Amino acid sequence: MRVVMKFGGTSVKDGESILHVANLVKKFEEYEKAVVVSAMAGVTDALIEAAEECYKEPSSSYVKLFIAELTKKHYEAISTAVKNPDLQNRVFEKVDKLLDELEKVLLGIGYLGELTKRSRDFILSFGERLVAPILSASLLSIGVDSLAMTGGEAGILTDRNFGRAKPVPEVYSIIKSRLDPLIKIKKSTPVITGFIGRAEDGSITTLGRGGSDLTATLVAAALDADEVWLWKEVDGVLTTDPKIVPEARLIPEISYQEAMELSHFGAKILHPRALEPVMRCEIPVRIKNTFNPEADGTVIKKESDSTKDIVKALSLIEKVAIVNIGGAGFDFAEIMSDVFRRLSRERVNVIMVSQSSSELNLSIVVDESDIERAYSALKPLENGIVSVKKLSDVAVVSAVGAGMAGTPGVAGRIFSALGKNRINIVMISQSCSEYNVSFAVSKKEGKEAVRVLHKEFELEKAK
Ligand code: ADP
Ligand code: ASP
Ligand code: MG
Repeated sequence: MRVVMKFGGTSVKDGESILHVANLVKKFEEYEKAVVVSAMAGVTDALIEAAEECYKEPSSSYVKLFIAELTKKHYEAISTAVKNPDLQNRVFEKVDKLLDELEKVLLGIGYLGELTKRSRDFILSFGERLVAPILSASLLSIGVDSLAMTGGEAGILTDRNFGRAKPVPEVYSIIKSRLDPLIKIKKSTPVITGFIGRAEDGSITTLGRGGSDLTATLVAAALDADEVWLWKEVDGVLTTDPKIVPEARLIPEISYQEAMELSHFGAKILHPRALEPVMRCEIPVRIKNTFNPEADGTVIKKESDSTKDIVKALSLIEKVAIVNIGGAGFDFAEIMSDVFRRLSRERVNVIMVSQSSSELNLSIVVDESDIERAYSALKPLENGIVSVKKLSDVAVVSAVGAGMAGTPGVAGRIFSALGKNRINIVMISQSCSEYNVSFAVSKKEGKEAVRVLHKEFELEKAK
């Protein structure tokens, strides 16, 4: 059996958890395996904040304090997770070296007054680069042969779209050539930094927030693994985010398609592109709870046996905005192609589109962080006939389930439940596959809309 295991930030939040993870990996001694790890919980957010702070208000005392805090956090983790003193010293040295480098980069941002997307990715990469050597040493200290590798070293080569880099097509053969011998011949367990890759010129790139899931599935597809296990802090994929609906129920099985729709529409449980590599070769993905490892979790695979649920799960994206293009009396196809060319040039991630062609109205939902770029790319289209407007503070709710296809009246039921609860719908979209109905509401009503629909479709009840 060959397995790729990925541990998210909460799974490695402190030294005790890292040691627990190492012992969990050791249990599968007879398996061929690769481990992918995320930064310790909160570290990526802290790095983003530090980079922005150094850019806006450079202060060397701020940088010193920030580095001291990171040092403390990682030193404490090493002291608990790595028992052997020699190994411990080696990791202390490694962490010191990395933090020295980070300190210089942060000070450099302040001196230069410049924070490019490339330097931002470089700074973000430190979260994963700091933790991988600790987990690897923890494994070694309990007798599991291991070595730490960066995404780049493991063969995750990407384009230069910093912040949301895409793996190059040859990524699979490169990863295979680097990792296969280690796993098969050396019987080692590499610990690979999730989330980060390397562009052809050697620059460090990142795969987008939550990108460690994608690292794991890329590695699994490259190594032709039997399964991918994504270890998280929840029992598996639930009917919705338990932070919104505490009664959300575990979904034991879900298809690739359904899970993809959910993650694309904001379910934080999975990176939106994570399933692409494994769908092609039909490698099942298991979502499991690091802190409740005996539980079965959720399996994501080709066909789900439980397709009978009409609405299987709900997701919410809270940080979105809309650009509306309106007008009348011009060539609809022409303006559509112009709009998407402009958005693609700006690398704007389009989440959802809704359109009517009688009198042109095209609504494009984008990530809140992309709205200014999207708006300035489309604003020049404005003339006497066409108007371009933006709408902020919007949330998108999606209802997902393969059983919705061919079941009449689902959309009606959704909208009448929302209507009864006085939730106003700004825009609607349904995918052709009919696996999903998505709609936009005002940001402040997003969570309530999820609660209303969870009740309407009785998702909290065991099926
Ligand atoms: P990781 O540890 O791998 O980084 P994440 O924190 O990214 O894990 O994902 C787990 C979180 O996803 C949970 O804390 C939960 O609040 C959130 N979540 C959102 N939607 C769902 C869902 N449908 N099922 C389970 N968890 C969900
Ligand atoms: N550490 C990164 C993030 O917080 C990647 C990940 O956790 O998957 O987004
Ligand atoms: Mg995640």
